[in-house]
Amino acid sequence: MPKRQCSKHHTIVVGGGVAGLSAAQSLLERGVTVTVLEAGPRLGGRVWPQPVFTSLPDLHIELGGEFIHGAHTGHFKLAQEKGWEMEYIYEWFSSNLPQQDKIYKNKGGKPPSVSIGGTVLPFDSHSAISKELVSAYERSEGCKTLDEVLKGCTEETRAAAEAFFCQTDGTDTLDEYPCYYVDEMLGGGDEGEMSNYRLKGSNCGIISHYTEVTRGAQILLSSPVTRVEYSGGSVKVTHSEGEVLVCDTVIVAVPISVLQRRSIEFSPPLPKARLRAIDNVNITAASKIHIRFSCNVWGDRNLILCADNRFCSQVWCKEIRAGDKVYYVVTGFCTAKVSHAMEVYNEKDCVRAMLLQLETLYPGCGQHYIEGHAIHWSKQPYVNMGYSAFAADGEREVVRSPLFDKLYFAGEATNLVDYGTIGGAIDSGTRAAGELVEHVLKDILIDC
Ligand SMILES: Cc1cc2nc3c(=O)[nH]c(=O)nc-3n(C[C@H](O)[C@H](O)[C@H](O)COP(=O)(O)OP(=O)(O)OC[C@H]3O[C@@H](n4cnc5c(N)ncnc54)[C@H](O)[C@@H]3O)c2cc1C
Repeated sequence: MPKRQCSKHHTIVVGGGVAGLSAAQSLLERGVTVTVLEAGPRLGGRVWPQPVFTSLPDLHIELGGEFIHGAHTGHFKLAQEKGWEMEYIYEWFSSNLPQQDKIYKNKGGKPPSVSIGGTVLPFDSHSAISKELVSAYERSEGCKTLDEVLKGCTEETRAAAEAFFCQTDGTDTLDEYPCYYVDEMLGGGDEGEMSNYRLKGSNCGIISHYTEVTRGAQILLSSPVTRVEYSGGSVKVTHSEGEVLVCDTVIVAVPISVLQRRSIEFSPPLPKARLRAIDNVNITAASKIHIRFSCNVWGDRNLILCADNRFCSQVWCKEIRAGDKVYYVVTGFCTAKVSHAMEVYNEKDCVRAMLLQLETLYPGCGQHYIEGHAIHWSKQPYVNMGYSAFAADGEREVVRSPLFDKLYFAGEATNLVDYGTIGGAIDSGTRAAGELVEHVLKDILIDC
């Protein structure tokens, strides 16, 4: 809850995703006057639980961010603080796992599978593919990319790695997947860091939480910022149809794609080195297709990595419990080139193509089909991306460093470790607000 309002300092937060909202929360708690300008008609950005099935208006499906990646993040801590029930879904790359389980451990006890050449193979600890991956990693010293690590491995193993690693982290090819990342992961983190959870129910609680804690802020929806002028003593922010707001400092918490597209004009322009760093952060497309069935069509094969000629690369199946009802939903997830390839289809054709793919994995499932929904995040206004992917060392630091004690930068792409995640976005907002307080507010707040 906001502790006090300090009329002496006014910060505008540009972007009402969880990064912007966590920044707003931190500033309100320190007594700052806060305005949040959000371009779209709702808060949450890429956290978007929506009742997409017309037959089930109360069932919220995660169109964007879904899992809690790691117990060390603000996402997990928030869920704990609020007492939200979490499901422990899977763990990967943990040094606590036995060698054979190093790649992936499905906590539900059902091992993932991989579909290759029309056959569905196990991808559990004892599978040939898992073993080959782990032993290739053990021989990988000096390799720079995953492609080099997997030289000499079977086509199956390489294809599975692409469906798993590249498609999760948003790179087109094994060649673009940097080895340091495999190292970090297979080198192992502690159990908490590598554990993944999902909130029981939906992420609606996150949106309600931030709506509640930012109540003390002025929040303007459908107010896209077009210009930020920061040369004088104050900062002038132009939004919507040319309305100008004046403030002391700004936290820019928009997706990095917005900065890459230069959709906001900065005056003076952002320094060249910063623009280079912004452009050097890779971004990936991401799509999700949700299909509702009348029953469990997947048996116990609830996670399939699709490594062959697939429309979509990953298939996640879940039974969603709401009261005494159970709903059966299959999510198709993909990123990078696979996501771009499906963007040319309209929603109906996407759902149809996904169903055809599911028929090959779960024969006969089509007769239990109820309805489907597709979203391509590259096509979403004001976001135009899935999430940030790999960047060379140091680029994110340049992107996020404060400018003249006037501009501060948040957003998932500015998190050095947990980029591309909800937790990373939440923590980036807290960090940017902390920098602002440290640099310009310490003395002012004492006088409030
Ligand atoms: C399909 C998909 C699946 C994902 N899965 C997971 C997952 O399982 N777990 C996980 O942790 N993360 C996941 N993520 C990533 C996670 O959702 C994001 O990292 C996180 O939500 C980003 O938050 P943010 O606040 O940085 O950015 P955003 O949520 O994008 O917020 C930025 C806001 O800025 C607004 N904006 C843009 N331009 C302007 C402007 N000119 N003026 C004002 N406002 C503007 C946008 O409308 C947006 O609301 C997934 C993302 C996608 C797309």
